[in-house]
Amino acid sequence: MALLQISEPGQSPDPHERKRAVGIDLGTTNSLVATVIDGQGTTLPDESGDVLLPSVVRYTEFDFIVGQAAKDEAAKDPLNTLMSIKRLMGRGREEIFSDSTFAYRFAQGDSSVPVIETAAGLKTPIRVSADILSVLAQRGREALGGELEGVVITVPAYFDDAQRQATKDAARLAGLPLMRLLNEPTAAAVAYGLDQQEDGVIAVYDLGGGTFDISILRLTKGVFEVMATGGDTALGGDDFDQAIMRWMITKLGLDPEISPEQQRECLTLARQLKEQLSDHEAAVVEYQGQQCTLEREHLNTLIDPLIQRSLLSCKRSLRDAGLSQSDIGEVIMVGGSTRIPRVREKVAELFEREPLVSIDPDQVVAVGAALQADVLVGNKSDNDMLLLDVVPLSLGLETMGSLVEKIIPRNTTIPIAKAQEFTTFKDGQTAMSIHVLQGERELVKNCRSLAHFELRGIPPMVAGAAHIRVTFQVDADGLLSVSAEETSTGVCAEVTVKPSYGLGDEDITQMIRDSLDNADEDIRARSLREQQVEAERLLEALSTALMEDGHRLLTASEYRDLETALDKLKIVHNGDDPDAIQREVNSVSQMSESFAAKRMNSNIKLALAGHNVEEFDCSSKTEAVLSETIDLQSR
Ligand code: ADP
Ligand code: MG
Repeated sequence: MALLQISEPGQSPDPHERKRAVGIDLGTTNSLVATVIDGQGTTLPDESGDVLLPSVVRYTEFDFIVGQAAKDEAAKDPLNTLMSIKRLMGRGREEIFSDSTFAYRFAQGDSSVPVIETAAGLKTPIRVSADILSVLAQRGREALGGELEGVVITVPAYFDDAQRQATKDAARLAGLPLMRLLNEPTAAAVAYGLDQQEDGVIAVYDLGGGTFDISILRLTKGVFEVMATGGDTALGGDDFDQAIMRWMITKLGLDPEISPEQQRECLTLARQLKEQLSDHEAAVVEYQGQQCTLEREHLNTLIDPLIQRSLLSCKRSLRDAGLSQSDIGEVIMVGGSTRIPRVREKVAELFEREPLVSIDPDQVVAVGAALQADVLVGNKSDNDMLLLDVVPLSLGLETMGSLVEKIIPRNTTIPIAKAQEFTTFKDGQTAMSIHVLQGERELVKNCRSLAHFELRGIPPMVAGAAHIRVTFQVDADGLLSVSAEETSTGVCAEVTVKPSYGLGDEDITQMIRDSLDNADEDIRARSLREQQVEAERLLEALSTALMEDGHRLLTASEYRDLETALDKLKIVHNGDDPDAIQREVNSVSQMSESFAAKRMNSNIKLALAGHNVEEFDCSSKTEAVLSETIDLQSR
């Protein structure tokens, strides 16, 4: 059967029709949309020619406006004009209340997500982001002449599960066909075509309006891996504006306690001054009939301390990645504030090389996202560009003794699935509580709890006999799901890690730093807990065994000796002397060896009546099972 092709007269159907794909940089200050035209990543302007859409949404009773028009009204209608909403994505309500930088009306209620009261009703950060996305998507539809078929949205490399999930939810709410989230630094590297070049290490220096991010990427055969991320969530062009405003106040002899209204006017003027000085040696500002001139030289002295802070973050990230300046092959400049000549100069000085600046620094991320979207929808079939990101913090679960067993270590490239086998701790245990954690430390209390779930319906067996396979899976967008299965019966339980809100890049950096600072202490604490758990397991198993078979298989004096040894172990097993615990564990193990052998023979004789015990190499088999399993906390 042939398909009827309908086409306009004189127009032949194109067998290689391109799919409509866009990349979106959903920024804290500004957002952009880009697509690929004639093989080039190109940002799409609005009707007045602007490619940057300020990430500002103003809600009025029946409508909302996004972008410059909303930003212009911010001073007049601050409570309904929402800015920097990206900072709230994936964060919990409690955290926001303690953060005074957001002067919005947060609604009371029991939702875990912050909800903002506006003239148009209650809005979540996800909704606000969706409203920004919808304006950009519309720009894409108009430029490409139809419904979008593929969208890539960028997120900071340090975004955690909750923040990524919130971004995905925003895309869904806006009705976008999201193919994947892409790390911003990776997008910048793609825009420069570095994925097509030889292997090496790339630093991406991203100084935007309110945030600074440094990312160290390693490129291996076209695959990017994030080796380290760092930065400062409170450092950016806004701070430069503040410094210039303070200079203006002094220079013009204004009252330092100027009204919020005047302050906003001065900040706007300060930003204009700053931006002019990126292209000129001097610029003039006029305020309330007075004039003054700012020279680039002087601007430099105002902002040098701020630039210095960003350089310290760079050095720290290099250290985290175990690299020195000379290991860096390329440095990419991202973010509007890297237009400032002084910033470029200082970054070049630090890395001892000229940074890449040929692609507009505030468009480079969107351009890379567009190139990636183009490949993902299949417009570029000969190219197998594959981009991999990594998990920013280790993922694991709680084992006996409140210890953390890491299943997926930090910086593992995603997507990834990893399984590990565990077993029950107690005889007849039919349920197991699984506690999923994120972090670098050894003890549960020092890591971040992501989820709890239970595996129920495990058939009653002796301790250590159940085979529980726990699988951790992180998809290409960095979302985690964990499943547990008792393999002999197929009983299983699963959890997708729902956003547990609130981890910023600083928290991540802090968590990693803590783990380094506390490494020795952690190892000691871990080995002590392991000893205690081993002692407890031995106590539990032997007490049961003594009760069941002791009188049948042991002489009265053997029984007494073993009981005495167990009592000694009981006394030390919860103490904090690992050597004492080890000593008593050894002594109990030694004394119980022949008892264990007798039990095994007797049990096997019962089970396999008629077979020769010597046919089975029982001891080595038992050992193998024990060594590949770890006890999980029991309930
Ligand atoms: P974000 O990534 O936070 O959304 P952008 O990358 O768009 O932000 O950067 C916005 C910042 O860049 C603002 O502080 C703005 O003043 C600054 N900026 C834009 N153009 C220039 C310029 N020519 N010179 C100096 N700073 C600039
Ligand atoms: Mg940005």
